[in-house]
Parts: sequence; structure tokens; C-alpha cells
Amino acid sequence: MKPIIGITPDVEQDDNHFLRNDYVQAIIRAGGLPFVIPIGHAADIAQIVGIMDGLLLTGGNDINPILFNEEPHTHLGEVSPSRDLFELELARQMLVGDKPILGICRGLQVLNVAVGGTLYQDLHQQNEGPMLQHLQKAPNAHPSHFVQLEKGSLLAEIAGSERIQVNSFHHQSVKDVPAVFNVTGVASDGIIESIESVTHQFVLGVQWHPERLAMTGDTVSLRIFERFLSACVK
Ligand code: MN
Repeated sequence: MKPIIGITPDVEQDDNHFLRNDYVQAIIRAGGLPFVIPIGHAADIAQIVGIMDGLLLTGGNDINPILFNEEPHTHLGEVSPSRDLFELELARQMLVGDKPILGICRGLQVLNVAVGGTLYQDLHQQNEGPMLQHLQKAPNAHPSHFVQLEKGSLLAEIAGSERIQVNSFHHQSVKDVPAVFNVTGVASDGIIESIESVTHQFVLGVQWHPERLAMTGDTVSLRIFERFLSACVK
């Protein structure tokens, strides 16, 4: 039996769901059975978690800052309040059950907020000094900036290197990261690009989009999905 991987779709203002095929194809290619999780009743999350062998938290809108005790900054983007609440509870219950989670872009931010962490609501407005372009204008599979990986981290092991090149489509990023996570990847401007749980079997958050890079044959990105899937095998 293939591991069942729940994927959270994006949610628009009117609560229509939207899911990029790259996420689905990356899971299929790595040996998983993708299973899309629409926003439903919070009371049903325990049952949903029971079905899943792993959770893929995908990219999307900004996260409502009230969820990390801040009021909205002038440059906060569009938010999806129903998605925020549903995904945060989904992430918390997966963490409690020690089930594997891969968080991509917004997904990394959801993981951090789920354990009490905070975000830069607009990383360019809320950081001093020269910054990299984190909302790249290059094509979406173009690796634009570098990420320095921590020696001995899961990502460094997957990459076989301590420096990788990634694509970048975010204007929020994690700020304070609770001790449950190690910061394992940082951009040259100091922006956190990856976190890994120190207590769970496999909980990885990356700020870039490996699902897009995987579709162009990028081996590090493909291996991220393969390692996630191998952690999901029962
Ligand atoms: Mn970036």
C-alpha cells in the first residue's frame, strides 16, 4: 500500500479551493497516494489525521497575524482565515501524533505558528539593510538565491552539500522559531529558509518551492520528497 499523503489546497476569498498540480505530481513521483484535504469542520480533523500517513502543507496567502498575537502591518497581504485555522489545527494534531509533515513556503510558516512561533508579516518592510529578492521575477523553476544549510542537518544530508540554490516566492518569513525546531537553512540576508523538528521523526519546513523544481528534474528537490515519503511508509 502506498502512503496516503494529505495535501492542503489553497483557499481563495470565497473559499473556493485551488491546488497546483506540481504538489500532486511530486507526491506521486515519490511513491505516495495524494489525497486533497478541503477545509471542513475542525471537529473532523482527528479523523482526517487518522487516515493520513503524512501531511503536505502547501503555499498560499499570508497568515492572519492575530494568530501570533500581532495586529495587521500596512503591508500584510491577502489572508485566508478559514484556511489558517484549519491548517493550524491539522498541523498541531499531526505533531502530537508524530506523523510526518513537509511544509512548503506558507507551510513552513504554518508549522512555526502552530508551535507558538512568529512571522515577519512583510519581510522586506520589517528587516533592515539590503535584502535579497525573495519574490523572484525570474521564471518559477529558476533557482535564484542560495541557502546555507547547517552541517549535519537533514537537508544538508539530503542535498549532499551545505549550500543549495532555490527558487523564492514569499514576502513573509519566520521570525522567532520555538525550540522544537532547529533553523537549518538561512539565506545570505539572514532570512530563515528551512526548519526541522528536533523531536519528531520527520517534520521539515522549506521556504522555497521544491515541488516546482522537482518537476524540472532537480535532484535535491526530488530527494526531499523521497525522504518525506520514506518517513511516511508504515
Ligand atoms: Mn527566499
